[in-house]
Amino acid sequence: MLRDGRILGRKSNCFTLQWHLTNDCELHCRHCYDRTDRTALKFDDAYKILQSHISFCRGRKLAGHVCLTGGNPILYPYFWELYQSIGNEDLGVSFLGNPVPQSVIARIAQIRKPIYYQVSLEGLKEHNDEIRGPGHFHRVLDFLKILQEHGIRANVMLTLTRSNMNQVIPLGEMLKGLADRFTFNRLAQVGEGSNLELPTQAEYVEFMKRYIMASRSNSALWFKDSLFNIVRYHFKRPATGGCTGFGCGAAFNFIAVLPEGEAHACRKFPSFIGNALDLGIEGVYKSPKARQYRIGCRQCRFCRLRKVCGGCLAVSYGQGLDVFNERDPYCFFRERSDYLDDF
Ligand code: SF4
Ligand code: SF4
Repeated sequence: MLRDGRILGRKSNCFTLQWHLTNDCELHCRHCYDRTDRTALKFDDAYKILQSHISFCRGRKLAGHVCLTGGNPILYPYFWELYQSIGNEDLGVSFLGNPVPQSVIARIAQIRKPIYYQVSLEGLKEHNDEIRGPGHFHRVLDFLKILQEHGIRANVMLTLTRSNMNQVIPLGEMLKGLADRFTFNRLAQVGEGSNLELPTQAEYVEFMKRYIMASRSNSALWFKDSLFNIVRYHFKRPATGGCTGFGCGAAFNFIAVLPEGEAHACRKFPSFIGNALDLGIEGVYKSPKARQYRIGCRQCRFCRLRKVCGGCLAVSYGQGLDVFNERDPYCFFRERSDYLDDF
């Protein structure tokens, strides 16, 4: 069990290693968080990290999960050896990746069927292909059908910016029957994402209201942004799990490991907590930096929503805020009546 009882009162019986196996990617998205050329681990070192994840989970009686991502995780040079090793263990597995051929999905499913496979779209066809490259939109739609054929849960994620915000709900309509879950993350203005624009707080809250209305007739629309819990709180509805099931779960119920073994509290912003190859998962999890990210920002500490919110540290970082002290710039908890009383 993972607990931060004395700090926030959260308890989790599951832990996810979000593993960015390689930065290699056949796409070049305009909001990519990291295009740096990182050397991927040799198989033996990757295996060492896998075993350290398993020991960490066993030691704390946790259900272990590995979320394989990149870049495109399939491009990791030792992908199949590593996937077979994961398949031999009692671990849940999922993917955040790009569309791959049917033969690759069939081989993955034969070794271990993923709990879900998540792909990204950035809006309707024209906008998406401008960000992710020509032909990408239709490749994703075709790929969702392949996932369905293999009985693999298909999730679609969008990175929300000012220019695609109005396309989210129409895109959700298009994905009805194709995606099991469609959700979005607000852009963190990090890496190449710093060239893109975010909506204002008022524009974003208005959008959230429209999204909530649309979700009444589209069950695929999912509420990943923990700030939706402000609306739920205002209307006395039970909270959702927000970003990771515990609001911001950075360095709590998941960590991100980069190609060379660097561990971060969350992949969406530089949040180094140690080297997983040198310290093991236990070592990075226990590091003082990891603890600091787990606690999150001081201004959220006594908020009644903290267990299911905490804002998004990556968005705060992207806007130049001190993530350990200043709350998410989109938080409207104090102003909720102004925004919501007419909703
Ligand atoms: S103060 Fe923090 S925890 Fe509370 S609603 Fe705002 S962002 Fe969420
Ligand atoms: S910083 Fe927290 S809320 Fe933001 S994406 Fe990472 S885990 Fe989610």
